[in-house]
Amino acid sequence: MAGVRTLYQEAILDHSKAPRNFGKLAGANRHASRENPLCGDEIELYLKLDGDRIVDVAFEGEGCALAVASASMMGEILKGKTVSEAEALSQSFGALVRHGLADPSALGPLAAFAPVSQFPARVECARLAWHALASALTESNE
Ligand code: ZN
Repeated sequence: MAGVRTLYQEAILDHSKAPRNFGKLAGANRHASRENPLCGDEIELYLKLDGDRIVDVAFEGEGCALAVASASMMGEILKGKTVSEAEALSQSFGALVRHGLADPSALGPLAAFAPVSQFPARVECARLAWHALASALTESNE
């Protein structure tokens, strides 16, 4: 079994210690919260959509290093993306952490999550923010 040092790549430690876009988002028009009871992670995600483009992202919550780093890095990457680009990224990220990708570098900084595929119990930590994204994009937000 691979050691935890493999799991916590530099970028993941960095984002978990200093999460980007942490807090509420003024002007958010979508939000969703999701939890991962297996680990105790909780994420509340806020999006500001302009048409079908994601113009701003923020999140609140608490969780393990993987859950927080994933939410932080996801927010950085989503800004400026269209909804369909975000959904495609979510698909690729899900594939990366569940069974790995032939070329993780295609995912840019998200490639830091590649080792998660060797730790099946932690996959849902890494995917939590992306599940919240899917909810925020598809559910009608009253
Ligand atoms: Zn977790």
